[in-house]
Amino acid sequence: MTMQQALVLTPAPAGAADPDGRTRRPPRHLADLDLAGRRRAVAALGEREFRATQLSHHYFGRLVRDPASMTDVPGAARERLAGALLPTLLTPVREQACDGGATRKTLWRLHDGALVESVLMGYPDRVTACVSSQAGCGMGCPFCATGQAGLTRNLSTAEIVDQVVWFAGLAARGDMSGRPDRLSHVVFMGMGEPLANYARVVEAVRRLTAPAPEGLGLSQRHITVSTVGIVPAMRHLAEADLAVTLALSLHAPDDDLRDELVPVNQRWKVAEVLEAAWDYAARTGRRVSIEYALIKDVNDQGWRADLLGRLLASRRAHVNLIPLNPTPGSRWDASDKAVEREFARRLRAAGVPTTVRDTRGREIDGACGQLAASEVERGSANDHLVRSGCRGRKAEQ
Ligand code: SAH
Ligand code: SF4
Repeated sequence: MTMQQALVLTPAPAGAADPDGRTRRPPRHLADLDLAGRRRAVAALGEREFRATQLSHHYFGRLVRDPASMTDVPGAARERLAGALLPTLLTPVREQACDGGATRKTLWRLHDGALVESVLMGYPDRVTACVSSQAGCGMGCPFCATGQAGLTRNLSTAEIVDQVVWFAGLAARGDMSGRPDRLSHVVFMGMGEPLANYARVVEAVRRLTAPAPEGLGLSQRHITVSTVGIVPAMRHLAEADLAVTLALSLHAPDDDLRDELVPVNQRWKVAEVLEAAWDYAARTGRRVSIEYALIKDVNDQGWRADLLGRLLASRRAHVNLIPLNPTPGSRWDASDKAVEREFARRLRAAGVPTTVRDTRGREIDGACGQLAASEVERGSANDHLVRSGCRGRKAEQ
């Protein structure tokens, strides 16, 4: 991922063909289009326009993804419409669950063989989908498993939305072990840098928040877009008229260390990225979430907590401390619990609201930064493809 690519804000249309005629991009799906676009697409197939609302109602209202179940659409029309607007985008390769079914990770194969993962987490009061916006990631943060393999490609709007609709259907069927049956929250904290795939991610947010049958009807406030800090895209997002929560992955309050932990910092420095965050907060009225993965003896010193406290005091911000999750080959560990507590104490003493994120999904490599989308599961080379169940280790809370 080059910075030039990061700044492309208008994508080519889904389903476009390359010069030798082969479709390389993901096939077009109704979730790529708003309702007016779906009506036009249906009319172009020679079908009556109300079929667009009918299909949308099935997909977004009833969470039905299989055209065969849309039996109120006559057979021949259904086949034509399904072929043009409901292609299979995601094929589940492996599903894993832990926490008694309240945490689920799915590995998907996309139409071109690319692999991505997403995670569903049920809490007593909410159900949250953690979705991927890219296959891989080009940002190269050295502590993140996704970053290690580089970027494969951007996901289309519909490939992002379909992850959520799949999970919403799962929750609606009551599969979340007694947790609420309505998916309510979406976090763009899976694989990829959402703001490096800006236009498709914003379209996906519009689909997720438009009322049914145009979209899924989620609250904008229940959607969190997490970014490594691509400043121009943060500024565009502030102007996009979406009141989503912005999470900024800071991880260090000083440029020396942030240059190493978050290489994009070499382009946009701490002061600049924080300025863009405060502008976002002022424009949207939403508190920005500052993400800080605590890495033992790397970024967890008391003086860094104090410096962070000074940068954030009296700002519309909240700090989320993330105990570093283990990733293959990483030389870094999570901070000791006493150090973590002291770091949080110093931030709070500076007047900065601070929480420590749980390490939900760690046993199934589904926690922050662990998504690597490999068909061979780590630590169990002959145990691949469909498998479910947790490893023995319990996540520390
Ligand atoms: N690319 C975006 C969103 C995906 S990563 C971003 O970086 O913000 C989601 C969150 O997980 C980010 O805050 C990221 O810094 C964090 N993360 C990555 N690797 C991690 C690890 N090994 N342990 C804990 N958090 C990690
Ligand atoms: Fe990409 Fe985010 Fe991982 Fe950095 S932390 S490599 S931006 S997914």
